[in-house]
Parts: sequence; structure tokens; C-alpha cells
Amino acid sequence: MRKLKGIPASPGIAIAPAFVFLDDVEPMIPRYAIGETEVKEEWDRFLSAVEHARDDITILRDRACHEMGDEHGAIFNAHLLMLDDPEVLDAIEKSLRESLLNIEWVLHQYSQTVIKRLEDLDDPILQERGSDVHDIMHRILNHLMFRERFSLADLDRDIVLVAHNLLPSDMIGMNRNRVKALAVDKGGKTSHTAILARAFEIPAVLGLGGATRTVKNDEIVIVDGNGGDVLFEPDGDTLARYKRVQARAIVREHGLASLASLAASTTDGKEVILKANIEVPEETDSVLRHGASGVGLFRSEFLFLQPGRQPSEESQFAAYRRVLEALGKWPATIRTLDVGGDKVVPDLALEEEKNPLLGWRAIRYCLADTELFQTQLRAILRASVYGDARIMFPMISGPDELDAALASLEAAKVECRRRGQEYRENLPVGIMVEVPSAAMIADLLATKVDFLSIGTNDLIQYTLAVDRGNERVAYLHEPFHPAVLRLIRGVIDMGHAAGVTVSMCGEMAADPYAAVVLLGLGLDEFSMSAVSVPAIKRVIRSVSMAEAVEIAETVLQTGSHREAYAYLRERLKDRLGQDD
Ligand code: PEP
Ligand code: MG
Repeated sequence: MRKLKGIPASPGIAIAPAFVFLDDVEPMIPRYAIGETEVKEEWDRFLSAVEHARDDITILRDRACHEMGDEHGAIFNAHLLMLDDPEVLDAIEKSLRESLLNIEWVLHQYSQTVIKRLEDLDDPILQERGSDVHDIMHRILNHLMFRERFSLADLDRDIVLVAHNLLPSDMIGMNRNRVKALAVDKGGKTSHTAILARAFEIPAVLGLGGATRTVKNDEIVIVDGNGGDVLFEPDGDTLARYKRVQARAIVREHGLASLASLAASTTDGKEVILKANIEVPEETDSVLRHGASGVGLFRSEFLFLQPGRQPSEESQFAAYRRVLEALGKWPATIRTLDVGGDKVVPDLALEEEKNPLLGWRAIRYCLADTELFQTQLRAILRASVYGDARIMFPMISGPDELDAALASLEAAKVECRRRGQEYRENLPVGIMVEVPSAAMIADLLATKVDFLSIGTNDLIQYTLAVDRGNERVAYLHEPFHPAVLRLIRGVIDMGHAAGVTVSMCGEMAADPYAAVVLLGLGLDEFSMSAVSVPAIKRVIRSVSMAEAVEIAETVLQTGSHREAYAYLRERLKDRLGQDD
């Protein structure tokens, strides 16, 4: 048995034979000299291969738009733009004339240089763009060399897809029913591969380094998308252990699935609202399937993570409208662009900063880029007539900043009216409470908005001075730290005193122990990844309000995260499933 550790990028466990996808490995590229009189012929060959590549990409683009929405088509639109880029074409033609070598070799050298330049950059998102260049150049080379590309659409058996680097077109085109998991050498959490794997609910471990060197076709592979382990040719004991974990997960899933149609109400009848967080519009299927009452957080920045052009007002409008229409009667809270810090978006002018988490990010960035912010606000306003839309500003740190954001929204409404575009005038507006200063003055902020949503991922980071992405200090990211609990209680109480709804959309809302405490503190709404909704529903259905209040009061008296956690584990041990 061999084992590799990578980045857990999409949850779930799968066991299946390996299918090693080496299609993206370079074929042997011929290299030979040509005469000056042959340059034109070589160039024409190149242009004809580009036309074939354009046809392929157009088919893929149309398919992606049809199946998954315009924003996924944008990946291929960016590829098409690259095919027409005069700078790229001039550089290749110049190199062909000067080197007097065959076009395959010239193209190969050119793409290697561009990819290396991108990979040498510090920015992981720009590094990822190398795979787009690779995708296009590889496609043209295949046409030049008359190589048929193996299509993952033709897979006819269940497999674990082991690849060096999965390209966006591979992900869109593959037979998703047959791919049980992904084990990929390259990629990180913000790569297209990770984003799409989560959206398709396929377990995935990325950044494995050498998976393709370690495994042969048809060897059994276990992919643990929760922990990030990939095991090749597991021994009997390991296989049996993972099969048990997997079987338990299936039973648990089925048991939990039966909760989807039941209300999230306590034993004494208090109804709790459970919503889901989404990153891409097609996740709305999963939201409804898991029994959530709408979307409490649509992280709109994922629309901006595509390479090439930033999403236009029309494509954003289409994405928001699609989410609202898919949800029907259920509401969707659309958060305005939350970039910067750990969320780097290509093409936006975010320079390297010394302290990015404390720097030019989220609402601060949007208030500085008026055009970008106005475009997004108009797109959300226009979509608001197609369902129950709500708008939410991230990273608000004080009243003046909130006033500026609200003034921007008013300006967007004025422009919609000027253009004769319809929108919902009384669209609810709220803020994320994720900076300690905002939590401390929730009373002042609550007078200006319709709802508060506590973002504990950042609130804990900033309160406890713990970088949420740094694995060395991850043990200090403590939801039951007394400082965090007191801040949360304060926000809920101040919000209620001001008459506004208080929800939570940080990961803490998906922790069954925390859910009981939050319920006892009076939280109105919970929002979490769709897959977590059934487990939280189950624990809510196991307690009474009186009991939740008593548990919350006891936890608020504890002196540390460890003490609070030990108490909750003991107190709730009969209410949770084995794996919680
Ligand atoms: C949070 O900070 O808790 C939150 C929900 O936002 P994000 O994880 O997108 O920063
Ligand atoms: Mg946040």
C-alpha cells in the first residue's frame, strides 16, 4: 500500500480502480528545419489547426452554457479570446520566421515559455492560468499532429480519475456519472478543478505532486476528500476500514436525507430557519435536495474567478436571476464581491500587500472601484424582481463604511430608474458581522440595515489573531473561545433590540454542538454548506428551546474552548450520530 497526502478539495470518500489520464502529458514533438520558402505553408498549417481548435472550444462552450450556465461558458470564451490575441499570434509568427523550425516545435517552445513565466509568479491564481494556456496550445498541437484527444466523455466504467493536471474543458466534458473521485498532482483550493468538483459533489484531493507517477491503471485507489489522503493498492484491513466508513456515510446520508422534507423545529415546536451557502449557481439543486430553506450566502466572488474578462452586468444578472428562479419561493442572500485577503481574483488590480487580511479587501475594494461595484449592484437589483433577493455587504468595520456602501446602492437604484430597468425597491439589505469592531457596535449598525449575518470564519480570525489559512495556528481557531462567544451573544442581543434578524453564515453554524448553543442564544437563521444541513436539522429536532437556553448559559460560563467543548460533548452525546 502507498499513501499520498494532498489538499482535501471536495468532501466524500470513494473507492474505485484508477484511470490514469495522461492525455495532457506532452507528446513527442517533432523538431526539424524548414526553408524560408516554407514559412507560409507552416503558418497556414498553424492557422488551420487554430480553426479546428476554435470549433472544438465553441462546442465545449455551448455545452457548458447549456448545462451549467453562462459563467462556466466564460472559461471557454477566454480561450477563444486567446486564440484571437494578436500579440500571441505575432509572437508565434515572429518566432517561426526567425527560428526557421517547424510550427509544432515553435508552438511548443512558445507555450512552455509562457507557462513557465506564469508558474514563476507568486500568485497561485495566476499560476493556475498556466493550465488554460496549456489547454489551448495542447489542443492546437493535437490538430497539427492529427492526434485524437481521448475524451473523458467516453468513460464507461466507474473510476478514480488520476491526472497530472485536469483542464477546465476536461472537467466540463467528462462523464460525471463514472468519475467517482479525483486525485490530481496539481491544483489548490481555488483552482477550477476544486470549484467544479465541489459543485458536482465529486470527492477530490488535489496538489498530490506525484499521483500519476505512483499509480498504474486499474489499481484500486481510495480517495478521502475529507482528510486529503489517497491510498493506492490498500491492504485488506485498510480497504475494509474505509468501506465501513463509506457504508456508514451512506447510511447516515440516507437517514439524513429522510429529514429533508421535515421542519427544523425543536421538540417544543420552535421553527428554525436553515439555509445553505453556495459558490456557483448550479449548487441550487443541492440546496433544495438537502432541505435548506434558501441561500443564506451566495459568495458572488466565484463569478469573478474565471480567467479573461470580468463578468459583465448581463452575465452577472443572468447568474443571480438563475439562482433566484431555481429557488422559487425561497430567498437568496447575494453577498457583494468579497475579494482580497485569501481570495485573489485574476484581472483585478490587487497588488501584493504586506498584510492582505488587514488590507484592501471586500467592501474596501468595492468602494474604491466604483464601476465594478455599480455594475454588480445593478445586476443584483435587476435580478431582484425574479425572486426573493437580499443583498449583503462583506467586511463592514464601521458606520461610515456602511453609509458609503448604502449610498452606492442608492446610486445604483438611481441608474436603474434612469435606464427604465425594474428592481425591487424594498429589497432587504444586510451586512456581514465578521470584524470585531462591527460586532462591538452591532447596535449602531443594526439601525441602518434589515439583517446582520455573523461570519465566524473571519470573526474568529480577527478576534483571536489567527490566520484562518495557516495550518500551524489552526488549533487556535476556536469557536467556543469565551471572547468569541461573548461577541456572538452581543451581536444577537443588539440585533434583536434593534428589531433586525440575526443569522450566521460562517462554518460555526455547521457544527452540531455550536448549533445548540446558537439556538439557545436566540440566533434566528443558520446558513452552511448544503451537505451539512441535514445533520444540523437532526440536532435541532432533538432539543427543546428551554434545554438549548440552559446549555447556552452554561457554555457562556465556561472558562475556555476546551472546557466548553468537553461539556457539550458530554451533554449532547446521545443526540448526535456516530460520525458527528
Ligand atoms: C465568514 O467569514 O465567516 C464567511 C462566511 O465568509 P467567507 O468564508 O467567504 O470569508
Ligand atoms: Mg468572511
